[in-house]
Amino acid sequence: MGLVVQKYGGSSVADAEGIKRVAKRIVEAKKNGHQVVVVVSAMGDTTDELIDLAEQVSPMPPGREMDMLLTAGERISMALLAMAIKSLGHEAQSFTGSQAGVITDSSHGKARIIDVTPGRIRTAVDEGNIAIVAGFQGVSQEKKDITTLGRGGSDTTAVALAAALDAEVCEIYTDVDGVFTADPRVVKKARKIDHIGYEDMLELASSGSKVLLHRCVEYARRYDIPIHVRSSFSGLQGTWVGRTQGNEAMEQALISGVAHDTSEAKITVVGVPDKPGEAAAIFRAIAGAEVNIDMVVQNVSAASTGLTDISFTLPKAEGRKAIDALEKLKATVAFESLRYDDQIAKISLVGAGMKTNPGVTATFFEALSRANVNIELISTSEIRISVVTRADDVNEAVRAVHTAFGLDSDSDEAVVYGGTGR
Ligand code: ASP
Ligand code: MG
Repeated sequence: MGLVVQKYGGSSVADAEGIKRVAKRIVEAKKNGHQVVVVVSAMGDTTDELIDLAEQVSPMPPGREMDMLLTAGERISMALLAMAIKSLGHEAQSFTGSQAGVITDSSHGKARIIDVTPGRIRTAVDEGNIAIVAGFQGVSQEKKDITTLGRGGSDTTAVALAAALDAEVCEIYTDVDGVFTADPRVVKKARKIDHIGYEDMLELASSGSKVLLHRCVEYARRYDIPIHVRSSFSGLQGTWVGRTQGNEAMEQALISGVAHDTSEAKITVVGVPDKPGEAAAIFRAIAGAEVNIDMVVQNVSAASTGLTDISFTLPKAEGRKAIDALEKLKATVAFESLRYDDQIAKISLVGAGMKTNPGVTATFFEALSRANVNIELISTSEIRISVVTRADDVNEAVRAVHTAFGLDSDSDEAVVYGGTGR
């Protein structure tokens, strides 16, 4: 039997009990004959608490020190987990990201993995140890400083190690039983998905589904690492994320799920002269401020005025930067005004099967209309349709769409085992 990488999230190791429970699970995998490498996140809400603490001592904590601070969270859980495993009579050794060979670029707080050289991990498991690796962290190639990969980065650590160690599977243990057809916190009748292709999973992740990070799925797809998302609280099979090729059951799934996202805001540039170059100037300014935009809509210009409105969505956290950049532009692009709206939600329907199925859009919009939800913006890709609605409508809209596509399960199988959702 081969090597498995298991990743446990913060809610699975939130306290001493959790750590002991996870330790037992890891030992089971070892007893079944696997070589086991474990990636662990910081306990519970530790990372958020450390960020709060930093903000109390400094208005703008330097990136290097922030990373030094945050990586401490994962060091606590990795050492405790190794101790718990040893007390069960099995050999375990913990390693920081740097010791595990996770080499990154130098951008603190959002470092990218450049290379993984897991020599020490390989040796540790070959000598019969369970290797425990601190997730979410690495060391910069250039300056040898400690870096972090961005929030939720432990999943990426796990997949990167699985690729570098040529693991059979990367198991991501979390506080739900897998990937669901909608957020089980919102839709009680959400169904667990047994298999999902990388493409649908990527779309769900970029549409607000939080169970797996986009970056982690992207990495898994690039190296063709199967991911098994499952709960550390139950013994159930979870969701397998992998290649769809040759798997008919997967190819036929019309809709994989409904995702929602309330982290975005909408900016409308009102009264833009409808002539070549204006939109370009607006989005060049936005790009210059390093703001990532999502949906873009331009209205037909009013015949009488020759003016048009351009709306786009962006992360709420980047709203200020974008508005400032647009205000500065006022001297060159003669638009009338700016509107900022952060009371919006995005609802997305994802499924590779919709490519070949007419009527999906109509069913989607009919469901929203029956729920009396107004659509403000629409955008589509080959395998996704997204709409922007009022934030207040989001839960009802998600449930209505979930029902309309026959995704509701007969039983209430969607259990949320832990986590504060922070
Ligand atoms: N502890 C880090 C965070 O909360 C990394 C992770 O959980 O994956 O973002
Ligand atoms: Mg976490």
